[in-house]
Amino acid sequence: MSDQSTQSSILEVKSVRKTYKLGRVKVPVLHGVDLTVHHKEWITILGASGSGKSTLMHLIGGLDRPDRYPEDPASIVYGDRVITSLGSKALDRYRSTEVGFVFQFYHLLPELDVLGNVCIGAMIRHGRLGYVSNRKSVESRAKELLERFGLSERIKHRPAELSGGERQRVAIARALINEPAMLLADEPTGNLDLKTGESILEVLAELQQDSGLTMVMVTHDERIAARADRVIRLVDGRVEEQSMSQSV
Ligand code: ADP
Ligand code: MG
Repeated sequence: MSDQSTQSSILEVKSVRKTYKLGRVKVPVLHGVDLTVHHKEWITILGASGSGKSTLMHLIGGLDRPDRYPEDPASIVYGDRVITSLGSKALDRYRSTEVGFVFQFYHLLPELDVLGNVCIGAMIRHGRLGYVSNRKSVESRAKELLERFGLSERIKHRPAELSGGERQRVAIARALINEPAMLLADEPTGNLDLKTGESILEVLAELQQDSGLTMVMVTHDERIAARADRVIRLVDGRVEEQSMSQSV
């Protein structure tokens, strides 16, 4: 990838802190994370288990909100939108239009078939009524994605009838149904054997290159991290000095 300094950013994370409260006990997890993600790059955040990787992904994806300290306000800015200041409707909209999520454990709905699982993101985006009028185009996009990921023969299958690798490919198709600009992948190979994990990384790498997706991935695995354009470390609730890992 070309010189990072000449690239424009898609996401700016500043002074983000997050503390969970368990009854009276406070569990501080993120202590002031600063992070810039550039358009169309693949950035991986490497950190030990429990270091706050999923927490950070949830904040970036608008699934949760950071702590509020008026003297040191946290901000997450996506394009020209200040995510941390959005109301819940606008946040829902951000989540369903700009971001795709891929999780370690797929989070597919067991009662829906593969096609239904991929289309569900569009249903959330358009609402039930809106979905009905968009149904044809959504289903045809879902089928295209499933074909691209080698799952054409599986569209009527339920998740329980699929292998781990197939389930994750369904989850990737679901993440892409609304054509997000940014994919957030939380340990996407963490539940897969080495070879299957490798094939999922290939799918993601191809997507990122061909479709110009911005990809933010988190992992605890150095080897997986090394595939990205840029790797940063999450240590003690902060991001360590950003460094280039390898050029593509
Ligand atoms: P990672 O994804 O790097 O393994 P997490 O972000 O899941 O780390 O968790 C970081 C820390 O925050 C862990 O100590 C975890 O137990 C704690 N934690 C995560 N989610 C919650 C929650 N909802 N309530 C309380 N503590 C949590
Ligand atoms: Mg995690």
